[in-house]
Amino acid sequence: MKSVLYSALAGICIIAFSCGGSKTEESPAPDANTDTTPPTISISSTIAGDNVVDESEATAVIISGVSDAEDDQAVSITLSDNVNNTTGTATITNGQWTTLGIDMSAMSDGPIVVVANVTDKAGNNAEAATAEVTLDQNDLQLAISQPIALDDLIVQAESEVLKVYGTTDASDGQTVTVSFSDGQNVVNVTTEVAGGTWGIPKTNISALADGNIIINALVNDSNGEATQVRLSDVPLDKTILPPAPSVEGTIFLSSTIMSQEDETTYTAIAANGIDTRTMYDRRTESFNQVDARLFNATYSDGFTIEIQVNPEFTDAEALVEAVKYGTEVGRLPKVLKRDVATIWIHKGVEAFGGGNNNLLIHTGNSETIYEPRNILLETLVHEGVHTSLDAYIKDDADWIYAQEADGTFISEYARDNSTREDIAESFLLYLAYRYRPESLTDQLKTFIKGAMSYRMDYFDKQNFELAPFN
Ligand SMILES: [Zn+2]
Repeated sequence: MKSVLYSALAGICIIAFSCGGSKTEESPAPDANTDTTPPTISISSTIAGDNVVDESEATAVIISGVSDAEDDQAVSITLSDNVNNTTGTATITNGQWTTLGIDMSAMSDGPIVVVANVTDKAGNNAEAATAEVTLDQNDLQLAISQPIALDDLIVQAESEVLKVYGTTDASDGQTVTVSFSDGQNVVNVTTEVAGGTWGIPKTNISALADGNIIINALVNDSNGEATQVRLSDVPLDKTILPPAPSVEGTIFLSSTIMSQEDETTYTAIAANGIDTRTMYDRRTESFNQVDARLFNATYSDGFTIEIQVNPEFTDAEALVEAVKYGTEVGRLPKVLKRDVATIWIHKGVEAFGGGNNNLLIHTGNSETIYEPRNILLETLVHEGVHTSLDAYIKDDADWIYAQEADGTFISEYARDNSTREDIAESFLLYLAYRYRPESLTDQLKTFIKGAMSYRMDYFDKQNFELAPFN
């Protein structure tokens, strides 16, 4: 996308003016010899020498051009900053016209559209001439942050909850007015400057027609200075709908996101006898008091995890399982270990679990499903999210906004359990998309981008500590 300001000509003309000119009131008498050919008019190619009107020039801007209308015909000039208009006049002399100095100083800085029109003696209106200049008479800064809608393309889901951000050096509390226009319809929204930035609340622009839309931002400072900035070619395409969620859960979508080749921060294990612990067991769907075999696993990234093994394992078997899963857990990104205080290990073909400052392991499921399908680590990532991310994220307004702006869910499991499973279902594929793209087919990458771009942007902004994963 072009960086603004200078490219809005055709579109702006439609918003600010009726470009065809207006009928004069003096209609010539009907006559067989009446001249019905409209005159032509144009504006000389540069205004103020460089099409930028600075503070020293703003009170007396001279605009000139040519026309084939008759001598002494009046040329009308209108300048618009999209909010305020200023006018000027000129008279045709030998096919030329030049205004007196036009005072633009009360207009807002930013793009100014200039329209010149003339009517010939027979009453025919010329096709108006347009030009654009930039008014830059103060140092008030205003910018719209790009990309818009993450990728400079506004799709259907985004069009209903669009947010736009920017920066300015206007004072705190000053109003920024943002308008979205398709050339016919306009949606206006206002926000206030806070600490040099601004951002509009989520705004529904879905009533605008598809095509390039114009986004205009305007701010007035407390000293009366005003400036505006404009993006003129942001595509809106409401025919682009979010993809349907995956029928399978995300741990099953790629088996090569992580593996036993990944680095682990596991360093050592120490047996710590047998003691009573309360352990959840999916086979009984209950928390049980168990005389568990205990091990303390230590990690180079600062963690110590108590691994509690069901005494259905012998002492020797328990050590093997504790080392195995202690090592695997060490491969998880650091942020997914931060709230893992304990690991429960049981036999049984039951799903793993997360939460309770714990990771729940049923070795039967690992041996018959996760390991044969090469998704043990992918599963541990999912459960680690439950343990170490869910509580921080699920009620965050920015996360809830990301869900809305994406307009879909990555999987039916996430959709059907949108507060409990969406973060875990999404985070694994986020890691894959951002850090292990080679583990994803092109089709899967397209699906992930279409389904969870805002969620990925949300995760990016959390600056999670991911080592040893990278
Ligand atoms: Zn889950």
